[in-house]
Amino acid sequence: MVRSFFLFLSRLKWLRRWMETASRAQRLSTRFVAGETLDQALAVSRRLHAEGITVTLDHLGESVSTLEEAAEARDIYLRTLDAIHTDGIQGNVSLKLTQFGLDLSYEQCLANVDQLVRRAAELGSFVRVDMESSGYTDGTLELVYTLHARHGAVGVVIQSYLYRSQADIDKLCAAKIRVRLCKGAYLEPAAVAFPRKSDVDRSYLELTRYLLQNGVYPALATHDEAIIRQTCRFVTERQIPRDSFEFQMLYGIRRDVQRRLVAEGYRVRLYVPFGKAWYPYYMRRLAERPANVLFILRNLFRR
Ligand SMILES: Cc1cc2nc3c(=O)[nH]c(=O)nc-3n(C[C@H](O)[C@H](O)[C@H](O)COP(=O)(O)OP(=O)(O)OC[C@H]3O[C@@H](n4cnc5c(N)ncnc54)[C@H](O)[C@@H]3O)c2cc1C
Repeated sequence: MVRSFFLFLSRLKWLRRWMETASRAQRLSTRFVAGETLDQALAVSRRLHAEGITVTLDHLGESVSTLEEAAEARDIYLRTLDAIHTDGIQGNVSLKLTQFGLDLSYEQCLANVDQLVRRAAELGSFVRVDMESSGYTDGTLELVYTLHARHGAVGVVIQSYLYRSQADIDKLCAAKIRVRLCKGAYLEPAAVAFPRKSDVDRSYLELTRYLLQNGVYPALATHDEAIIRQTCRFVTERQIPRDSFEFQMLYGIRRDVQRRLVAEGYRVRLYVPFGKAWYPYYMRRLAERPANVLFILRNLFRR
């Protein structure tokens, strides 16, 4: 119920406009967002690097309404890849195809992401294509297969709440495409996704085990301590090398778990978002853990 409410709010355009421009509301974004500028994101990345944590930088934005905006997003990402390289930061980038124009023109979106993946391949870096709501799954996978065949240097995200995910993972593993596994952050109908959280969690664990044995450098993106513990046990039992996969978490969430994993010799990468268009991302984080709302309200009304 609460999750659905916040996911509903995440799509309200008027609330988004207000939240992203009102200074009192903007202050909230620092809970999950590294800052508005690339420089701020790089500063956070350097600090994390010193703690033994790698990053994937995400310039916030989704569902652009013109191809000019999509081209701007591409250019910001090109600058981000270059800056990561120049700074010597252990990092790559994550992007959403709707920010690169997927709703407007598949061909143009493909051309935009092609430029980025080509640059990533030249720099020895990597582009991760996030997965959005289920209406985009087929288009996202098609684009990733195409660009992987051209350049390598690109991977995708699979959501354990979708019934189709095992079949998608089979094909991605056969094509040697890197997969990030997450539970899934959007509101989906029972026709395509498990409605019960226990089923999503069970699916996550099964897919994790499959990827660890069959995938190419899988990324296990979760903060779920029970799943992380069972994964570490599985890896130890099967003698799977700790440098053959990585855990991924979101900036600002469960720093205790991040640090513990690094101390135990596991690879940890943080998803570090930056930019002004933070509202939908932010609301999805609230939907995941309604207790965050108390924190938000305290900050909103603090003098
Ligand atoms: C690196 C990364 C990339 C992602 N990329 C995508 C993507 O491309 N597409 C997509 O649909 N989803 C993506 N997600 C989001 C994901 O689908 C989940 O919505 C999110 O990670 C919460 O699920 P969980 O696995 O942490 O487990 P949950 O069962 O939701 O949470 C387990 C525990 O983690 C902590 N926790 C989880 N979320 C929060 C929060 N917001 N605030 C505070 N504590 C929290 C709590 O302690 C909670 O008890 C990504 C997540 C990560 C970590």
